[in-house]
Amino acid sequence: MAIYDLKCDDCGKLFEKFVTGFLSEEDKECPRCSSRRVSQKYNSSFGIGSSCSSKGGGCAPPSGGGFG
Ligand SMILES: [Zn+2]
Repeated sequence: MAIYDLKCDDCGKLFEKFVTGFLSEEDKECPRCSSRRVSQKYNSSFGIGSSCSSKGGGCAPPSGGGFG
């Protein structure tokens, strides 16, 4: 699963495309004017939960626990 942020070069429409895999040329179509002149801004496919190195240590497992 990946979410691609796209922008239409013709009308300036910003939209997202939700695809399972890589973005194909067929996915690059403006929902407003059906233009194929669409530029890809970025994708946030694997960005979720990968901020372990940020300050705060949100990814660190809970210490001091114990089962039993
Ligand atoms: Zn457009």
